[in-house]
Amino acid sequence: MIDLHALPSVFLSAIVIVFGLIVGSFLNVVIHRLPHDQSIVSPGSSCPSCKTPIRWYQNIPLLSFLILRGKCAKCGAAIHWRYPLVEFLTAVLFFIAWRGVPLVVDAQAIISQFRIWFFISICIVITFIDLDHRLIPDELSLGGWVVGLLTAYWDFRHGMGQLVIASFLGFGFFFLFALLYEKATGRVGLGGGDIKFMGTIGIFLGLGGIWASLLLSSIIGSVVGVIYAKLQKEKSLLRASIPYGPFLVLGALVELFFEVSKWLNL
Ligand SMILES: [Zn+2]
Repeated sequence: MIDLHALPSVFLSAIVIVFGLIVGSFLNVVIHRLPHDQSIVSPGSSCPSCKTPIRWYQNIPLLSFLILRGKCAKCGAAIHWRYPLVEFLTAVLFFIAWRGVPLVVDAQAIISQFRIWFFISICIVITFIDLDHRLIPDELSLGGWVVGLLTAYWDFRHGMGQLVIASFLGFGFFFLFALLYEKATGRVGLGGGDIKFMGTIGIFLGLGGIWASLLLSSIIGSVVGVIYAKLQKEKSLLRASIPYGPFLVLGALVELFFEVSKWLNL
């Protein structure tokens, strides 16, 4: 027995996953080109090893990687596992963040859905760029903030006022924290990119996002920092340089999916 009522929903789920894979494929391009100030639109992708342009049928998210067995079709150079990982991650997060088919498809439903997907996308890009280059480009933090502000009106969880306040609070709090840290230790702890990104988290997730990112990133960040310092045989934890962006992203995503701020009554 096939329940025909289930069909459209399964069909739409598949569309969301495919959409996530395609966006993930584009995010790979952004991750690799944005830090080098290269255009993210042209030229098309090519093999980093032999520079052979990648044809559209060799550029199908996940599938091409599996069919080509992770190698360039021309020269056989290994394709980094991170490409399919980013595609897979984007599709999974897009699907989890999907709110299903709304009873009434209106501007609110559509814009708030794309707003969340957009935020997830910048989170993924920031994570990998910060891991590679220890920086969060302004295009992502400030650019993301502008998109967040322009769409804040349609956010279904928070009022626009709370989002704007949270955004400035997150930015201000982190700015102050960074300033005090620098005064106390004589070295730069948080980068300017992290501070700006806190403003972006605020405009998308409100006060809950700020607190969750702050709490989780400082707890997980310091645990990872201690382990990292031990592994690097650094005597001082302060000297161990770890990118902070991925921890902020982790906190933001935990708040987005689990709304920790609600359990904590924040
Ligand atoms: Zn090649």
